[in-house]
Amino acid sequence: MSNTIRETWQRYRSVPIVYRIAAAFVLGSVVGLVVGEPATNLQPLGDLFVRLLKMVIVPIVVFTLVMAARTLAPKDLGKVGGQVVLLYIFTTMVAIAIGLGVSNLIDPGTGLLLEDAMKKQAVESKQSPGLTQVLLGIVPENPFSAMAEGKILGVIFFALAFGIGLTVVRDEAEEGSAVYNGVQTTFDIVEAGAEVMFKIVWGVMEFGVIGVFALMAALFAKTGPEAILSLVKLFATLAIAITLQITLVYLLVIVKGLVGRSPIDFLRGGREAMVTALSIRSSSGTLPVTMSNADENLGVDEGVYSFSLPLGATINMDGTAMYLGIAAIFTANVVGEPLTITQQVSVLVTALIASIGTAGVPGASIVMMTVVFTQVGLPIQAIALVIGIDPLLDRMRTMNNVTGDLAVTTLVAKWNDAIDFTTGVWAGETESLRDIPSSTTGDD
Ligand code: ASP
Repeated sequence: MSNTIRETWQRYRSVPIVYRIAAAFVLGSVVGLVVGEPATNLQPLGDLFVRLLKMVIVPIVVFTLVMAARTLAPKDLGKVGGQVVLLYIFTTMVAIAIGLGVSNLIDPGTGLLLEDAMKKQAVESKQSPGLTQVLLGIVPENPFSAMAEGKILGVIFFALAFGIGLTVVRDEAEEGSAVYNGVQTTFDIVEAGAEVMFKIVWGVMEFGVIGVFALMAALFAKTGPEAILSLVKLFATLAIAITLQITLVYLLVIVKGLVGRSPIDFLRGGREAMVTALSIRSSSGTLPVTMSNADENLGVDEGVYSFSLPLGATINMDGTAMYLGIAAIFTANVVGEPLTITQQVSVLVTALIASIGTAGVPGASIVMMTVVFTQVGLPIQAIALVIGIDPLLDRMRTMNNVTGDLAVTTLVAKWNDAIDFTTGVWAGETESLRDIPSSTTGDD
């Protein structure tokens, strides 16, 4: 490399990755709008970024969960698990209530005509998995197919069982025996595996600058500016509700009130995860980054985050649940039959269950909307109205989903004395790719 190229490269690398990705997000959107159709050819680069992230999900979940079993006794695991699940459910209910409240004030959808929706293609109504199915699905019939198919709940269950099995076998074996050593070696390999995965995540994030640029350019090339203009009110309702949920519930109540720390530090700690969620619209896809942020920036023990974050990416969808409520009110207004209080309560319960069963993938809410709409008797066809701007709404929902997972994780970690406030953002540092020695990042 010549000196100038090297210097430019180093200067580029010295900018925190989160800013580079944010710049790519804006630039990509502008390029998509200006260039139009030809920019859709960039889509494969965006898809490549998403695939790279997905590649590390299963190994990262397995490695960190097995490690968790090494550090946490099964009894503590049960306690942590209970707290996580209850907080997830509670924050989701608050999110839906906020969504319904803001919608009642703003009344999105009044003034829009249903005929517009009818002209567009109707959305297929899909069956959501029932609660029993979701619960049964936690236990995989075959752990390898659960891994191969990316069924995270099944993977969590098996990895935990395997990790707990390892500790039990170790405790029963004679120290120094082959079995004892075998277990210790397995734990060492798993620990090294987790470290390697985190390094890969940071490498993938470097490519994310290009990936996010491509995703945004292709999106705006396809939809054009009308995508934003047509449904400004719906967009605003969701934006306000999400801002309230993040600032009041996560930052003020959870981080400031219950954890007793600075919300700004928390935001700095989770910023890569938030930006990635905004960019790729998938909380499952963002999981490796969320885990890396919890580990390296927020100082959370893997005993907590290795369980809470994969679970959160699968069942805790505050932004999604909130949006289901908002979309129901929006549609009821479009149809000209505003929802009664009883119907709104029914929306709350259905949206909660639907969001638990929603996969953390782009556009998953669209399918869940059919469930909520059917429950309260709204026309499924109206979903076509919002599909056009869903790529934008989905970004905000996913960012909210991921932030909620991190906030609950931080709180549960604090309750269980499983967070180190003397490192990471709490001590004024964040680890980012530029802090990792060049020899490990492939920087020449
Ligand atoms: N895209 C969201 C997520 O991955 C789910 C949704 O609301 O569509 O969290």
